[in-house]
Amino acid sequence: MGHSDKPTQNPPHFQGDTGQQPVEKQEDFDYKNEIKGWHFFDPHIHMVSRTTDDYQALADAGVVGIIEPAFWVGQPRTGLSTFRDYYNSLIGWERFRSSQFGIQHYCTMGLNSREANNEELAEQVMEILPLYLYKEGVVGVGEIGFDDQTALEEKYYRAQLELAKEGNLPVQVHTPHRDKTQGTEKSMAIALEHGLDPSMVIIDHNNEETVESVLDQGFWAAFTIYPFTKMGNQRMVEVVKKYGSERIMVNSAADWGISDPLAVPKTAALMKVQGIPENQIRDVTYQNAIDAFGQSGQIKKELLRSLQEVDQSVKYEGNTVLRGGQQPRTNKNSVIIE
Ligand SMILES: [Zn+2]
Repeated sequence: MGHSDKPTQNPPHFQGDTGQQPVEKQEDFDYKNEIKGWHFFDPHIHMVSRTTDDYQALADAGVVGIIEPAFWVGQPRTGLSTFRDYYNSLIGWERFRSSQFGIQHYCTMGLNSREANNEELAEQVMEILPLYLYKEGVVGVGEIGFDDQTALEEKYYRAQLELAKEGNLPVQVHTPHRDKTQGTEKSMAIALEHGLDPSMVIIDHNNEETVESVLDQGFWAAFTIYPFTKMGNQRMVEVVKKYGSERIMVNSAADWGISDPLAVPKTAALMKVQGIPENQIRDVTYQNAIDAFGQSGQIKKELLRSLQEVDQSVKYEGNTVLRGGQQPRTNKNSVIIE
């Protein structure tokens, strides 16, 4: 598919699959009541694009840990320094912001597929990337893979698979929204060709057409719950009914587009009311992602048993999440900043 087929809109993660029916909204469904006291881990969410209200809502819904993959910021970067600043924010300020709501923040580092097509810049990014892969809180290389399935995308996908292999790090693979089945197969074939163990590779943005092959070949299969399109909550329930919970995980991929940071707890609630066993729900909304990315050695599992204590009087290089006159909150149980 050529560039002329591209939509004029700027697609974030959810460019609707053709032929998929939108999922009905569950407006009157009191999901929070269903999952009271449960804990969740969202292995794909772009918090730099989200607000403190979102952090608060995640904490209130029981999300104790998240992974923020490095990705496309919605417009092309114009130089290396913006990549560097972005990477620094993922291990610095954003991590701190998350801690101020009691949530463990991890990230994956990588050159996204879109910007792999800017070869001059991509070369520079590849030079600094290894400096970031071994920082505290970095749980893998990601999100990398194919967008338009160009030769340059393939070149930098392969180069980054080699970085992951060298560091024995998990890989978070973004699969393309156009020609998904073919792109997913190609992503897996190349990973195997580079000698990666499929148990170290998380194939993301699966759908009903791709999941069986991903699981059969031994990879982890991640599903993104998009509001109204693609893997809606109900569709995810059906996937777990059919395939069980082994090596399957759910994420929100919430970013700067219309997306729902609470997709993981909401899907868990829907699974519960539809009779999915609780241990399977726990696998796909918490444990499997921790196990997969925990292979990096970077995830402190004991800190994911609950929300962490919050001390908003702490500062990060002199900055806080508080604004003039706000009192720091030092207890995770108080709901909103005064
Ligand atoms: Zn993403």
